[in-house]
Amino acid sequence: MLLYNTLTRTRDELIPHEDGKIRMYTCGPTVYHFAHIGNLRTYMMEDVLEKALRYLGYDVTRAMNITDVGHLTSDADEGEDKMVKGAKREHKTVLEIAKQYTDAFFADCRKLNIRKPDVVVPATSEVSEFIRVIERLLETGYAYEAGGNIYFDTSKPKQYNVFHDFGEEDLEEGVREGVGVDGNKRNKTDFVLWFTKSKFEDQELKWDSPFGLGYPGWHIECSCISMKYLGEYLDLHCGGVDNIFPHHTNEIAQSEAYLGHPWCGAWFHVAHLNTASGKMSKSKGEFLTLSLLESKGYDPLAYRFFCLQSHYRKSLVFTYENLDNAAGAYAKLVSKIAALDHDGDFDEAGAKPYLDAFRSALENDLNTSLAVTALYDVLKAPLNGKTKRDLIAKFDTVLSLGLLEAAEKIKEKDAPKADDPRRAEIERMIAARAEAKKQKNYAEADRIRAELSAMGVTLTDTKDGTTYTIA
Ligand code: AMP
Ligand code: ZN
Repeated sequence: MLLYNTLTRTRDELIPHEDGKIRMYTCGPTVYHFAHIGNLRTYMMEDVLEKALRYLGYDVTRAMNITDVGHLTSDADEGEDKMVKGAKREHKTVLEIAKQYTDAFFADCRKLNIRKPDVVVPATSEVSEFIRVIERLLETGYAYEAGGNIYFDTSKPKQYNVFHDFGEEDLEEGVREGVGVDGNKRNKTDFVLWFTKSKFEDQELKWDSPFGLGYPGWHIECSCISMKYLGEYLDLHCGGVDNIFPHHTNEIAQSEAYLGHPWCGAWFHVAHLNTASGKMSKSKGEFLTLSLLESKGYDPLAYRFFCLQSHYRKSLVFTYENLDNAAGAYAKLVSKIAALDHDGDFDEAGAKPYLDAFRSALENDLNTSLAVTALYDVLKAPLNGKTKRDLIAKFDTVLSLGLLEAAEKIKEKDAPKADDPRRAEIERMIAARAEAKKQKNYAEADRIRAELSAMGVTLTDTKDGTTYTIA
């Protein structure tokens, strides 16, 4: 698979580092509030990536953290811990908030058909591991103590600014005067590994450590959880574009300092979902959650369809008008699938060009909109119903749009009512058609189907018999 790699700025072939396995790490949610639909776009695209890799034959193990401590309101060690802020807002404890929003996050994921990663680890369960790694960074001179906190010294790695995506002035060494600048830092980009001194005395969760009673910084959790569960060499690391700096830059600096060798070669970043007025926010304007969309009558899978229609590297504007268009297209797609019959055997030769088109869309930097086009092409193709259905089922192992299930639901809804006056006659004709097929009298079976069709009856043959809908 060719994937755009933020580190090399090219599309690189994804090659496992060892034993043919892809070790994939995803930065997980900060569970201080509901995820907004922008966050969910990132998780959905990471889910499609994982499923595409499996579809293409890679053996994938995926791990994700849950950030339940240490993520401050600014990614650059400033502001309040987001978890403490959430707890205050709702008059609950940090652990209650963490549980509530972790559950809410996975409920959203289930509705969007996002598979739970193989390994999911809350940061608070790995604090002893963070302490162990920080101790080693202190021993090797990559970390230092100042004013009670432990910092990573970003002047120590050979190259700190690995992503080259921010201006030189942002990297200027030395501490600047001014509000919000931490005077303990030797270099402006240094970051906290362990806080003992916080501006916020009400930090609820604190742990004993050789550096004093305190709590870990945000960046160290992803490095430690990834290295513990996926090993010393990571094949693929994912997140939203806002994670590139400082979070992923810091993850690389501290992981490689700890390991003494390169850590992860491929970095996958999903562009943002924005509103028409700009950045998506949890506090300003309408807080766009999946539940809000559901309360307005949208199917979560229509939102998934909306996201799959554009490329993960392009930022996407959310408007209700755009979502309406996607929801309309999704409903139409499902009803086309519901109208397919089950006739025939799987036509391997006929299916091949469609399988090839789908595969090549995925292989080419996860082009989900082309993958969706391949699905539409199947519907238009001169293939029998069985082949079309099987292809749709196969493509949907990656797209996860619940297409055949949604089609079955419409059919159930449209199924004839027991009191329909034509029911007995229709069922007699269906039985006669089944008998004709049994006798290999296909001309007669087709004639009956045509007669039923003229009456507005659509038949669907399943392995358990024939079902029908009436227009
Ligand atoms: P957080 O819960 O804030 O740690 O963010 C969870 C994920 O959502 C991270 O991978 C972010 O990079 C990503 N993210 C944040 N804002 C957006 C957005 N507007 N659109 C897409 N992804 C986002
Ligand atoms: Zn992370």
